[in-house]
Amino acid sequence: MAVHLCAKSEEHWYPADNEYIFCPLCGDKLLQKCLECQAEILKPEHKFCVKCGTEFRPNLNKKEKVEEEA
Ligand SMILES: [Zn+2]
Ligand SMILES: [Zn+2]
Repeated sequence: MAVHLCAKSEEHWYPADNEYIFCPLCGDKLLQKCLECQAEILKPEHKFCVKCGTEFRPNLNKKEKVEEEA
């Protein structure tokens, strides 16, 4: 079964069949499919698209990196 991911936290994800459009905890729009190839996101722990390798939450990693460097 596919899942939808919150862009703000790796711990926020929801089964695709509940039809959530926004994260109920952040208010951010959920990532429902790969932005590059429209493939479904299969598991909540997936960080990259299994079809094209696109990172699902690049902004999350950027934030962490900035904090490490600062
Ligand atoms: Zn969230
Ligand atoms: Zn993809």
